[in-house]
Amino acid sequence: MTRSPDKHYTARILDRRDLSQDLCVLRIDPGGPFEYRAGQYATLGLENNGARTERAYSLVSSPYEEALEFFVELVPHGGLTPGLFQLKPGDALLCRKIAKGRFLLDLQTGHTNHLLISTVTGIAPFVSYTRTLYRDWKSGSGPARAEHRLFCLQGASRSFEFGYREELDRLASNAPWFKYVPAVSRPWEDGQWTGETGRVDDLLRKYTEIWGLRADNTTAYLCGHPKMIENSRGILQRAGWKKESILEEAYYQVTIKESGGSA
Ligand SMILES: Cc1cc2nc3c(=O)[nH]c(=O)nc-3n(C[C@H](O)[C@H](O)[C@H](O)COP(=O)(O)OP(=O)(O)OC[C@H]3O[C@@H](n4cnc5c(N)ncnc54)[C@H](O)[C@@H]3O)c2cc1C
Repeated sequence: MTRSPDKHYTARILDRRDLSQDLCVLRIDPGGPFEYRAGQYATLGLENNGARTERAYSLVSSPYEEALEFFVELVPHGGLTPGLFQLKPGDALLCRKIAKGRFLLDLQTGHTNHLLISTVTGIAPFVSYTRTLYRDWKSGSGPARAEHRLFCLQGASRSFEFGYREELDRLASNAPWFKYVPAVSRPWEDGQWTGETGRVDDLLRKYTEIWGLRADNTTAYLCGHPKMIENSRGILQRAGWKKESILEEAYYQVTIKESGGSA
């Protein structure tokens, strides 16, 4: 009997950046050729006593980069993240050889505005879109020439959770087609914060108006906390967005205990 080829590479951690005890950015060498499009996800895993545990993680990196980058939140008592959070540079993990997902930038419908709404680690695919478009724009190639504009709202409880704020602020100040607004939902726990406050779903109406975004010219993308996705979908649909112009990537299912809040 021939053994089926392994679906996984042995990947290695290149480096990690810890934002807090439960948020980190991991950069990995996938361990072999890995093709993907901005907005897709990789499947990472660990093997313990012959049993493999794997989960989906949105790629933060752009396909132009060699390393794969991920923004990961620790779920205490989760099946995989406690193990992922133990990893140091040089350590091995599993990475499926094939990227997956359809949470891609909509370049088909003719909409040139893209409203990107996320909570915490849900910013990952939007960083990938922005890095990719920025590179295309700088080199004068790719879809940026068709004047695609990205409008990004990111919610978190406190500002240390943003992870990519410096990079996204810098891109926003260099690229006229990119706007980024991070919003903190617990400003009373974040005395230094002088930026936008509130939950992103509550800020949606305000920013669609400020940015002049309408259902007939804008595709919306919702990524991260399932409750934020549900609330935002409802707000957008009431404002005229059709189901097919709202793309969603929920990171997990909401439990009854948790259904009260989103950043
Ligand atoms: C397409 C896709 C892309 C994803 N991308 C990312 C990413 O970029 N970064 C990232 O950190 N996660 C991402 N996730 C979530 C990830 O796949 C895992 O579910 C998560 O890391 C928890 O894994 P775990 O094995 O530790 O916990 P599990 O054993 O899977 O979960 C334990 C329990 O915690 C709940 N749960 C899972 N995640 C959370 C959470 N964040 N907050 C609260 N409760 C949770 C689960 O519903 C379950 O009830 C993505 C999920 C999908 C489907």
